[in-house]
Amino acid sequence: MSKVIVVIGAQWGDEGKGKIVDLLAERFDIVSRYQGGHNAGHSVYVGERAFVLHLIPSGIIHRGKTCVLGNGMVIDPKAFFEEADRLAAQGLEVTPERVLVSSRAHLILPYHRALDHTSEERLGNERVGTTLRGIGPAYEDKAGRRGIRVADALVPEVLRARIERNLEDANRIIEAYGGQALDVEEVFAETSRLTERLAPFIADTTHFLNRAAREGRSILIEGAQATLLDVDHGTYPFVTSSSTTAGGASIGTGLAPHRITGVLGIVRTYTTRVGEGPFPTEMLEGEAELGQLIRKRGREYGASTGRPRRCGWFDAFATRYAAEINGFTSVALTKLDVLDALDQIKVCTGYRLDGREVESFPAVSQDLRRVEPVYDTLPGWNTSTEGITEMSRLPLNARAYVEYLSRAMDVEIGLVSTGPERDQTILNPGSALDAWLKTQ
Ligand code: GDP
Repeated sequence: MSKVIVVIGAQWGDEGKGKIVDLLAERFDIVSRYQGGHNAGHSVYVGERAFVLHLIPSGIIHRGKTCVLGNGMVIDPKAFFEEADRLAAQGLEVTPERVLVSSRAHLILPYHRALDHTSEERLGNERVGTTLRGIGPAYEDKAGRRGIRVADALVPEVLRARIERNLEDANRIIEAYGGQALDVEEVFAETSRLTERLAPFIADTTHFLNRAAREGRSILIEGAQATLLDVDHGTYPFVTSSSTTAGGASIGTGLAPHRITGVLGIVRTYTTRVGEGPFPTEMLEGEAELGQLIRKRGREYGASTGRPRRCGWFDAFATRYAAEINGFTSVALTKLDVLDALDQIKVCTGYRLDGREVESFPAVSQDLRRVEPVYDTLPGWNTSTEGITEMSRLPLNARAYVEYLSRAMDVEIGLVSTGPERDQTILNPGSALDAWLKTQ
């Protein structure tokens, strides 16, 4: 069976997927995304060079890999070319031979960006904290059966008719909230210009991926955002608009569930969250300084927006939930080195609500704001783990922490990351992840 592995963030995102996907990409023929748009942000460091990827799969950094933007994605053609041009200027080949854009993916158009702003303004204090890039409104149009798919945009009459119809409604909303109405001709002209340029990249990626899997080629499916931001399973309504979890990979690529041979969870040794929404283990009040220390050491600022991330302790209760929904085969544990400066490390093992133990991850965000985390406290190690490449070289307390997290999630740790560089990595020999890295 061909190797088809899905990589998913287990928390609220920014777990360091970029580095891990980059590490794995070498051992795969194809790297595909399946949901989201240019609201994702991976930073990959290769020696002195930094690549920031928002829309194009990280496989692009590796010669000879095919990158797929799957049908479950929403694509802003303007953002696509901004990124493609930037990567090309850094010496990468972003050509139609290497990058395939699904004909079934949905387009993000200028009115989606405008609607994203009005929708957040309308919500006021209840705002979701979106990246204002039109992702949510494009998914709303998709579910509302008004969306414009990549393939539709190639037929000028169809594109114009849909823009006319959609703008009529969109402009009403935009104007009602004090925004500037958009002009049909301008939107049509801009979109046609961009989609004509996009035409050589457009393909039936479902057919391509299925054929590749049949022919035994390996596929790495790269998630964006993360489990707790999934539209169904996440901390609704403070979520993204797509299915970020393992099941979404099947929907967003057109590969049947049985084709997927493994799921890798990316788990950070602590937790962060960008934007609004409940966050039980956030370091607040007495712990604000610790939060700042972690933010500084872990460089916890959004790759897409530059926003400072909220920092908190490891939440084993939430991560166990993530392991369950995604069915993690293996876990890559990232940013161990960031905790080097701590004397003590807390891990949340469960929640209490109104004096009672919570049995399963709360469905209601209001409840999640009220829960009291139950913590275990583990000793820190207070020495540098940066760049360590063998488990046996880790300080004892760091090793104990890694093993504790593995038990708490009930999943093997396939890899521990001890720095942003590719070689600052400990591989766990004999793990499922190790096997994926040993085969093509
Ligand atoms: P992603 O969206 O999940 O890929 O996360 P980001 O790329 O936004 O955040 C990861 C950041 O942490 C990047 O700056 C990485 O280079 C960095 N990073 C990844 N792994 C490690 C690690 O093990 N240690 C440290 N110190 N930084 C890491």
